[in-house]
Amino acid sequence: FSSAPAPIKATLFPGDGIGPEIAVSVKQVFQAAEVPIEWEEHYVGDQIDPRTQSFLTWESLESVRRNRVGLKGPMATPVGKGHRSLNLTLRKELNLYANVRPCYSLPGYKTRYDNVDLVTIRENTEGEYSGLEHQVVRGVVESLKIITRQASLRKTDGLFLKCCREVAEKYPEITYEEVVIDNCCMMLVKNPALFDVLVMPNLYGDIISDLCAGLVGGLGLTASCNIGEAGIALAEAVHGSAPDIAGKNMANPTALLLSAVTMLRHLELYDKAERIQDAILNTIAEGKYRTADLGGSSSTTDFTKAICGHL
Ligand code: ATP
Ligand code: MG
Repeated sequence: FSSAPAPIKATLFPGDGIGPEIAVSVKQVFQAAEVPIEWEEHYVGDQIDPRTQSFLTWESLESVRRNRVGLKGPMATPVGKGHRSLNLTLRKELNLYANVRPCYSLPGYKTRYDNVDLVTIRENTEGEYSGLEHQVVRGVVESLKIITRQASLRKTDGLFLKCCREVAEKYPEITYEEVVIDNCCMMLVKNPALFDVLVMPNLYGDIISDLCAGLVGGLGLTASCNIGEAGIALAEAVHGSAPDIAGKNMANPTALLLSAVTMLRHLELYDKAERIQDAILNTIAEGKYRTADLGGSSSTTDFTKAICGHL
């Protein structure tokens, strides 16, 4: 008689828009690969939870704090309703200071570039996203861009650079170079193979990682993982809730699946991570089942079934 080890508990936020559809894909693929994970599912509430002052429930934040690992779908924040964005609240409440966004050319899926293999590390809690905005006089709004030494240093324009230099000095085996953001955009488009790892403040990281997604085939493909205080890892796709295709069984679940794969690596479940990643990449390379964003006509469900078949 041998008992299997207890499954690892992980928090799952299916999120809004296409979120629930692509979260189902992840659950099915994980089941097919027999990943020893038990999901604790949490949805964003439809009213403000007084304990968090946001639509995120106290229980959902506690779940991430307790499990210290999770996966989140996109969360859409109603515009102009005068409350903090859900993503911002999550990042601030859980102190998710870095967002790690790997991006690489998929073998078998042709784009203008076939040699992209880089990681963007985006500072995740400060800069223009600090949420410090006020009206100076009627018609003029001032928004503050905040950079602190503490948040800048955790990740590994002035202070941010200084902190990067300090850390770089401790790792002489890593070649450290500085590139100004406008030049960086030009270089990336001209020859993305010039870069291995890009570390940058919040807004630049947001823009550059979308640019990088575009280099390899779009937002449906790129993964990310938020790293936070006390070793929290909350994986999430780079894309948003894609309201234009929500509920149509059209979304590409690859971005969320590959994000889930980064979560497995964080948990050191390397075997499962490799198997699932291979199954996804093989399905795309084979070309028989592809979603519309990749020029195919498969539904989310059929593409997911094909991945499970490869497993
Ligand atoms: P949000 O405000 O939540 O960011 P958005 O309108 O900006 O939503 P995004 O999710 O950022 O939408 O998507 C931008 C475009 O990329 C949309 O046309 C969307 O359909 C497409 N897209 C994003 N994610 C996916 C995906 N997983 N599969 C297919 N298409 C996607
Ligand atoms: Mg968007």
